[in-house]
Amino acid sequence: MLTDTHAHLDYKDFSDDLEDVIARAKEAGVGRILTIGTGIESSRRAVELAEKYACVHAVVGLHPTNVHEESGDWLGALRSLAAHPKVAAIGETGLDYLHLPSEQLSSSPALSALQAEMPEDTQAAIMDGSYRAVQAEAFAAQLDLACELGLNVVIHQRAAWDDTVKMLAPYAGRLRAVFHCFGNTPDQAWEILALGHLVSFTGIVTFKNAQLVRETVAAIPEDAFMVETDCPYLAPIPHRGKRCEPAYTRLVAEKIAEIRGSTLEHVAAATQKTAEGFFRLS
Ligand SMILES: [Zn+2]
Repeated sequence: MLTDTHAHLDYKDFSDDLEDVIARAKEAGVGRILTIGTGIESSRRAVELAEKYACVHAVVGLHPTNVHEESGDWLGALRSLAAHPKVAAIGETGLDYLHLPSEQLSSSPALSALQAEMPEDTQAAIMDGSYRAVQAEAFAAQLDLACELGLNVVIHQRAAWDDTVKMLAPYAGRLRAVFHCFGNTPDQAWEILALGHLVSFTGIVTFKNAQLVRETVAAIPEDAFMVETDCPYLAPIPHRGKRCEPAYTRLVAEKIAEIRGSTLEHVAAATQKTAEGFFRLS
């Protein structure tokens, strides 16, 4: 059996045909799906889906690019949601510096007054600094919550490797993290594996330009990774560009088996065992 360890079943992309999507996953041998919350409402929907479908488990968290949209006691809301028996981890949380506010500076007329008084690079540094600080605060709060609840963490990291690893360091031994949609080098994988963390791979492993990811797939031990789709995004070849769905976890696992000179059955068994341990599934 395969486990899709990172899906967004609560997204509206699936609202019309979720029953069929789950049936197709089962037909493809994907017997378990972790649906990942990206904010409070999304996490609430993830828990509802886990209640409705036996094969679905929920992960609840606040995505780094959504931190500016939550107000009030979002952490308290996550804590209550995480008490549900089908919540398997906290996330996705982490740091994402891909689109810093300074990139949008020129498109913001409200900032033109500020711009006149302050050198542009100073202003950009202040804005980007506070953007990063809000993400860091939400990330730290969710790491603390995971420790408090004895849960592991699903990490989203983009263009923020050093800061993410630095923030995780004090938690080594207290929680484990999976760096989802891993796209970094074998050396970077080893850096976090040494601290007891894991990585997971998406349909990117099938993309033509993803040689670096395939090098990492080939380099690490079989108990160091899990498989995922990140659906509705990142559909593997031959579905690239279309809506992705959990059934395609099989295509990800098949490609990984090919890269590692292994078999689908072997990759399925190994990643299954890893996912059950990490998410504490029976
Ligand atoms: Zn995601």
